[in-house]
Amino acid sequence: MSHPDDHQRRKLPQFDFDKYESLYKDFHSNPELSGQEAATAARVAQHLRSSNAYTIHEKIGGHGIAAILANGPGTTVLLRADMDGLPVLEQTDLPYASKATQRDKNGITQPVMHACGHDIHIVSLLAAADHLLAVRDSWSGTLVLVFQPAEESGKGAQAMVDDGLYTTLGVPIPDVVLGQHVLAFRAGTVALGHGVVFSAGDSFKITFFGRGGHGSAPQDSIDPVVMAASVVIRLQTIVSREIDPRDEVAVVTVGSIKAGETENIIPAHATMLVNIRTLDEKTRGRVLASMERIVKAEANASGALKEPTIEQISGFPITRNDPECTDRLMKTFKNGFAEDFDPNYRGNMASEDFSILATAVGKPSVYWVIGGVDPDVWDDHVKNGTYIPGNHSPFFAPVAKPTLIVGPQALCAAAMEFFDGGDHHDS
Ligand SMILES: [Zn+2]
Ligand SMILES: [Zn+2]
Repeated sequence: MSHPDDHQRRKLPQFDFDKYESLYKDFHSNPELSGQEAATAARVAQHLRSSNAYTIHEKIGGHGIAAILANGPGTTVLLRADMDGLPVLEQTDLPYASKATQRDKNGITQPVMHACGHDIHIVSLLAAADHLLAVRDSWSGTLVLVFQPAEESGKGAQAMVDDGLYTTLGVPIPDVVLGQHVLAFRAGTVALGHGVVFSAGDSFKITFFGRGGHGSAPQDSIDPVVMAASVVIRLQTIVSREIDPRDEVAVVTVGSIKAGETENIIPAHATMLVNIRTLDEKTRGRVLASMERIVKAEANASGALKEPTIEQISGFPITRNDPECTDRLMKTFKNGFAEDFDPNYRGNMASEDFSILATAVGKPSVYWVIGGVDPDVWDDHVKNGTYIPGNHSPFFAPVAKPTLIVGPQALCAAAMEFFDGGDHHDS
């Protein structure tokens, strides 16, 4: 493993770290919730506009941005970064920690934090944009940058497509769509895997209807609390008793359950939030059908007078790396990052809506991950098992260096692999 400063010495593009570090700290201090990324998008557009070279479309599907650099004949490469923060109260002791708050879609004031590292993605893509423009004489093709809103809600990529990204706006249809995510592993390293790298994620709000009444009179009531409690237990049997233990993978989580206000009233209804992760369409269909069957059957078993409602609140597709494009990037990253590249990334049960930008137009995509954990902290973790906060934790704090060097390097190297005149590695 190499020292953080080694990352500036490779045959990869060199970056003015200080410039991008201050930009990063600024984005980190000013996160915005999904769908409310107005100031973030304005700063991104301002940076892109300063070069006078990119054709910029703003406010796509909310606060989405597409920036185009047409640089002669050849491949069209789309590089994507997401921009939203999360309703998390930041508890890192970073001097640039977020103190931001915002009203969520229910009007409730929430603390906001870049707890998923999307600020790393934004700045990496801006740095890559600057570099690819600076070296435009060395490649030919069309570069499309997408700064996507609302990834965390699973709605942003689809919203951009639905708002005419590839149709009315006339953004060139990419030949390949590329993206990356910072995760809690050794900073300075890059990992890529074949096949499915992120799971499908489906979330539902389920409402059970009982009959409210006095806490002393169960005979006159239908208790939605017991109904919901039975469903929680029964849903666990989907993974343990229904899917094939040899080759199917699923996670079923009940993340929220709410019913009633006090002890002596049997409430009239109960609500439950369920999250399901799967790695293939067959398992996905099977698990979703099982959930529906169990929910309805338990309500029926309780004698509910009204069928429960199941409302999908978000849906993320499976993120599947294209075999041929992944092979090309395996060589590119191996050449560029050497021992700091892991070609055997096994994937993650988290989910991403990134691939919609490719599947919407029937094109291939590749998604890789970069480490954000201080190398010394990571080494201690490997040796002693010390806890490392992951994405969405109030303590998640990627180190700026070398993460903000490796992030743009990976984007530039990957884009150049597909451009004419780029640095191909056919050996
Ligand atoms: Zn996230
Ligand atoms: Zn994320």
